[in-house]
Amino acid sequence: MKLDPDLKLQILEKVGIYSNRFSIPEPQILLTTKEVLDAPKEMTEGRRTSAYKYYGVSYLLHNLVFINVRKIPDEKTLENTLVHELIHMRFPYLAHGKRFNKLVRRGLGGKTFPPYRKRSKISAI
Ligand SMILES: [Zn+2]
Repeated sequence: MKLDPDLKLQILEKVGIYSNRFSIPEPQILLTTKEVLDAPKEMTEGRRTSAYKYYGVSYLLHNLVFINVRKIPDEKTLENTLVHELIHMRFPYLAHGKRFNKLVRRGLGGKTFPPYRKRSKISAI
């Protein structure tokens, strides 16, 4: 898809809406491979020069998401990619698979998720 200011705004609005529904802090969004290469290397480590291959990449540790707008063919794929990446943010412990895909489908269907809480170690006193 062609990245123009309208599409950029539309993407950022959707990220805002889904982030709210998924109870996650809104991630920083990169929309071009140039932005990925220009970002601090420690933020995009591991998926820097290979990012162009994917529709989207989540950099979980840095709350950063790359949406490869130019590679994405249509609106439906864009919506899928946005939700896919934000599900990674909400369920950071979950790998790709049936359960992951189910959550993506629910997310696309408008489901809301309560905040993710890391289990904290309880120290005995
Ligand atoms: Zn993924």
